[in-house]
Amino acid sequence: MKGLAMLGFHKVGWIDKPVPSIGPMDALARPLAVSPCTSDVHTVWEGALGDRHGLILGHEAVAEVVEVGPLVRDFKPGDRVIIPAITPHWETVPSQMGFHQHSGGLLNGWQFSNVRDGVFGEYFQVIQADGNLAPLPDGVGPEEAVMLSDMVPTGFHGADNAEVSYGEAVAVIGIGPVGLMAVAGANLRGAARIFAVGSREICQSTARLYGATDLINYKNGNVVDQIMEATHGKPVDKVIIAGGTLEAFEWAIRLVRPAGIVSNVNYLGTGEYIKVNRLDWGLGMSHIKIIGGLMPGGRKNIEYLSNLLKYGKLDVKPLLTHRFKGFGYIEEALMLMKDKPRDLIKPVVTI
Ligand code: NDP
Ligand code: ZN
Repeated sequence: MKGLAMLGFHKVGWIDKPVPSIGPMDALARPLAVSPCTSDVHTVWEGALGDRHGLILGHEAVAEVVEVGPLVRDFKPGDRVIIPAITPHWETVPSQMGFHQHSGGLLNGWQFSNVRDGVFGEYFQVIQADGNLAPLPDGVGPEEAVMLSDMVPTGFHGADNAEVSYGEAVAVIGIGPVGLMAVAGANLRGAARIFAVGSREICQSTARLYGATDLINYKNGNVVDQIMEATHGKPVDKVIIAGGTLEAFEWAIRLVRPAGIVSNVNYLGTGEYIKVNRLDWGLGMSHIKIIGGLMPGGRKNIEYLSNLLKYGKLDVKPLLTHRFKGFGYIEEALMLMKDKPRDLIKPVVTI
């Protein structure tokens, strides 16, 4: 089979590999729709995970089940399913302790294109199918549903970890597809005022659509000053970081109220240390919490999020700015995600 792989830092290309053989609890799937992610870009062009040489890229897919192992109960060949970006081992101690994202060690729930071939192959293996696959709901097409692989759950994870509650003021730093879904998640959780920080016009207008009340362009001056001016100096309740540089943490600590939460979902591909200013952090006694999270995956989570699409509470179509038809277009779509033209939010490839 063919797949689009990392061939070294800054290098991708098509390779041939045998079709994977699956274990008794696993599924073999073939993609119906895939989308490249900014995380693929961090991996290849920043080398952030190390050289995943020869590993097929991609972790966002809707697929058809081709084969299942003898212990799989709930899925069979022909089923159409959503593949979460994170597919943990659910029986492990870390999973039982509530951090299944790190089931086999730090970030190990992130299997695709990290420890095994990803979804940009003609076929791919999904471990523990019953725990990791979610059925494609009736009435939701593969192009939209592929946003449930990663963009919706990651943005919502940012809002969940920030414990956004009704009436709150929330700042979302970075409004690419992940930040936009953080805006939507914060909005659904009842935030009253949502600051959306980004510069591209298409992202700003889409942020408005998802519930942002205030648009902040980081290219127009200091982000903290701009937000503080709008609030007359009152800090916000929560900050969600979904883009930008390590400096975003310094802004966030200055922006958030005592006992507020700074929730990061940005993949920090470059830089060394995150700096927290001692005074801004209340001399270490501000009760401000900082949390960073890998998107949760899991069948239950993806099924519940897909209900939002099924019943019309969340429309992901505005994210899909570039559509391609045909397996061969995956490379072009990935390059778009790398180059981020100003009219791009997210590309999707149907197969
Ligand atoms: P995008 O690149 O599409 O969006 C990034 C956003 O950050 C844009 O709005 C951009 O603004 C903004 N930005 C860029 N530079 C700055 C800056 N200096 N200051 C403030 N804002 C800035 O990324 P995605 O939405 O696709 O992904 C966001 C992050 O989430 C990535 O790092 C990705 O790897 C990560 N990720 C993490 C996951 C997880 O499980 N935690 C899962 C999936 C993705 P503009 O372009 O408008 O100028
Ligand atoms: Zn992703």
